[in-house]
Amino acid sequence: MARRQTADKKIYPRLGIRKGDTIRVLAGKDKGKDGEVIGVNHKSCKVTVRDINIIRKATRPDPNKNPQGGIVPMPAPMDISNVMLKCPRCGKPSRTTRFADKEGKSSRKCRKCGELIDG
Ligand SMILES: [Zn+2]
Repeated sequence: MARRQTADKKIYPRLGIRKGDTIRVLAGKDKGKDGEVIGVNHKSCKVTVRDINIIRKATRPDPNKNPQGGIVPMPAPMDISNVMLKCPRCGKPSRTTRFADKEGKSSRKCRKCGELIDG
């Protein structure tokens, strides 16, 4: 009997942090800084934050972007557990509660002030 194939479509955990959010860095060399999320990787549970966790990446010459190549500073993805969402209402880094509204849309709520984070 053939073994049942595992489905390709994996469900990754919802991370509570989205692109465009402002986060506070909790650990690492940029601890204590705030930054805007520019990318979320659900697969590896990592976020990329503007101007945070900068690494120097060696790149090949690219005639459009970077004709010389060489070492280019760029933000590296960091683990989601090292950042915390900053509430736009009360300005504090806080954990969030997820819930579905009447239309079934998933929303987030700040646990500190109880305000909705998504408008
Ligand atoms: Zn709040």
